[in-house]
Amino acid sequence: MEMRHLGNSGLEVSVIGLGCNNFGRRLDEKQTATVVSAAVDAGITLFDTADLYGENGTSETYLGKALKGHRDQVVIATKFGGPMGQLPMQKGGSRQHIFQAVEDSLRRLNTDYIDLYQMHFPDLNTPLEETMRALDDLVRQGKVRYLGHSNFSGWMIAHAHHIAVRDALTPFISAQNHYHLLNREVEPDVQPACTKFGLGILPYFPLASGLLTGKYRKGQVHPEGTRLSSGPMAERILTDINIDKAESLFEWAEARGHTLLELAFSWLAQQPAVSSVIAGATNTDQISANVNAANWVLTSEELEEIEKLLGNSS
Ligand code: NAP
Repeated sequence: MEMRHLGNSGLEVSVIGLGCNNFGRRLDEKQTATVVSAAVDAGITLFDTADLYGENGTSETYLGKALKGHRDQVVIATKFGGPMGQLPMQKGGSRQHIFQAVEDSLRRLNTDYIDLYQMHFPDLNTPLEETMRALDDLVRQGKVRYLGHSNFSGWMIAHAHHIAVRDALTPFISAQNHYHLLNREVEPDVQPACTKFGLGILPYFPLASGLLTGKYRKGQVHPEGTRLSSGPMAERILTDINIDKAESLFEWAEARGHTLLELAFSWLAQQPAVSSVIAGATNTDQISANVNAANWVLTSEELEEIEKLLGNSS
C-alpha cells in the first residue's frame, strides 16, 4: 500500500482509506468489525468517520470496537459540527460545542486521542478565530493530533490559513470535499487553495456512491440491496446524464484492460493535492478490490481523453 503525507504535514496515510459512513447505518457492529479487520489486513491505515454517522454516533462506537488492538497502527479521522441534537450548543464550531463534541467522540471511539479532527461543515455564525483557538487548545491538550476541515470553499481555506499564521494556531492540514470523475466542483477553487496552502485533499463520495464501480450499467437492471438500488440518493445520482458518462468511462477503461473502479480510484489519486481516497465499503470483497485499484498511472494523453469523453474540453 502506497503511503502519502497528508498535505504538508508529517502525518502519513494510506493512499486508499476507508470511509466509515456505512457503519451503524447499512452495517451492524459485527459486519463493521469484519470490514474493518479486512481493511487493516489489507494495509489501509486511514479510517474516516464522524460523530454524525449512524444513530447517536454508532459509526464511531463500532469503529472504536473494531480497531481494538490496532490503535497504534491506524489514523482515526473523525468530524464534529453537524447537528447532534436540537439544542444550539449541539452543533457548529463554537468553543462550547467543540469541547463537548471531542469528549463524546473520544468516549465512543474508546481512545484518548484523535489523529485527525475535522470540522464537518463551515459555521458562518461563529468566528473562525474562536473555532481555531478551541481546536488549538485540544491539540495542546493532546486530545487531538492534527486538524482538518470539510466542505470549506477556497476563500475559507485562505481565511483559515491567515488566522493560523497571524495567531500562531495549529493549521488545518486537510480538506474533505465532494470530488470524483463526475463532480469537479473543487477544481477551480478548493484544489488550488489546498495546493497553495499545503493541505491534502480527502475526496468524499469518490465512487459517486457506487456509480463509478461499474455495477450500475446502462440498460440493465440495477443490482438489489445496494446503496443506489432505491431512494432519493439513487434519484440524484443515477440520472441519464451520469449513467451515460459512467458507461462511456466503463468502455474506455475496458478497452485499455482496466475496470471503471480502477479508473475512479487511480484518476483521483493522481489529481493535485489528493492524499488519500476514502471510499466506503460494505463487504470484504469490496475492500480487496479497492486496495488494488489505484495502481493505474494514467498518461497525460489518457487524462486528456477522459476530459474529452466527459465533454470537459473543446
Ligand atoms: P463512495 O465511496 O463514493 O461509495 C461507497 C459505496 O460504493 C459503498 O457503500 C458500496 O456500495 C460501493 N462500493 C465500494 N467499493 C465497491 C466495490 N469494490 N465494488 C462495488 N461497489 C463498491 O461514497 P461514501 O462511502 O459515502 O464516501 C466515502 C466516505 O466519504 C464516507 O464513508 C465518509 O467517510 C466520507 N463522506 C464525507 C462527507 C462530508 O461531508 N465530509 C460526505 C459524504 C461522505 P454498496 O453500499 O451499494 O455496497
